[in-house]
Amino acid sequence: MKTTGIVHIVGAGPGDPDLITVQGLRRIREADVILHDRLVHPRLIAEARRDAIVIDVGKRPGAEDEQQKEIHRLMIDYARQGKVVCRLKGGDPFVFGRGGEETDALASAGVPFDVTPGVTSVTAAPASAGIPVTHRGCSHSFLVINGSRSVDLESGEWLAARELLRAGGTVVVVMGLGRIAEIAAKLLEDGCSPKTPAAAISRATWPDQESRVGSVSDIAAKSTGLKSPALIVIGSVAALSKEHLGRLAADFADASA
Ligand code: SAH
Repeated sequence: MKTTGIVHIVGAGPGDPDLITVQGLRRIREADVILHDRLVHPRLIAEARRDAIVIDVGKRPGAEDEQQKEIHRLMIDYARQGKVVCRLKGGDPFVFGRGGEETDALASAGVPFDVTPGVTSVTAAPASAGIPVTHRGCSHSFLVINGSRSVDLESGEWLAARELLRAGGTVVVVMGLGRIAEIAAKLLEDGCSPKTPAAAISRATWPDQESRVGSVSDIAAKSTGLKSPALIVIGSVAALSKEHLGRLAADFADASA
């Protein structure tokens, strides 16, 4: 009799291995095969069974579509061999993670799957720098947008983001560090106040987390030298950054380890 395995699509969280969910950790420990992204903490991979097959399927620059197809092929092949596959992805699998393409591929192949949500960097990075993405009397909405070079800054979504900023909401830009100068210039050109607070947060929840706070007019210059992954928070909430609180918590954790 032919057995069919299953694919668990699992969010690993933003970096710190303690930020995976209980269900996510269980999926790692029980898997026959782990297919993981590049940015997954080694301590999580170390939770795999000794006899598990562990493959780094993290994307290398170039030919990303081909690499994505290969991930689909691996998931489907292992599941058809009857294996329990854990597809471990950074942050939340469905937030800019191509997770939807993976569930589409599995559904078309008739392979059973489920999804374990993860703590997304979209909110975890601001939180770890002490920035609330919404704040009473200050911002009542937040919008998350892709800032990578492949995205047109004149798109309807970017126009909506600029409108939201003018109305006082929060905009979080992911994958935009390399283009932060161009993004800031566009916002200013479009009537955003140069004084609008902005923060760039790099490697949030990793030991080398670093953040810079300023305004739309100087955040590009202030972000020089920041490492990726990083995201940018724009809007009045960015001025509420209390990163020292995060540092105190980290010092406390070190002292009690
Ligand atoms: N699925 C992921 C996002 C993938 S897109 C999630 O939910 O978090 C990758 C982008 O996410 C990066 O370019 C960066 O903008 C952001 N990012 C991911 N991890 C981050 C971290 N630890 N600190 C800051 N930004 C991060």
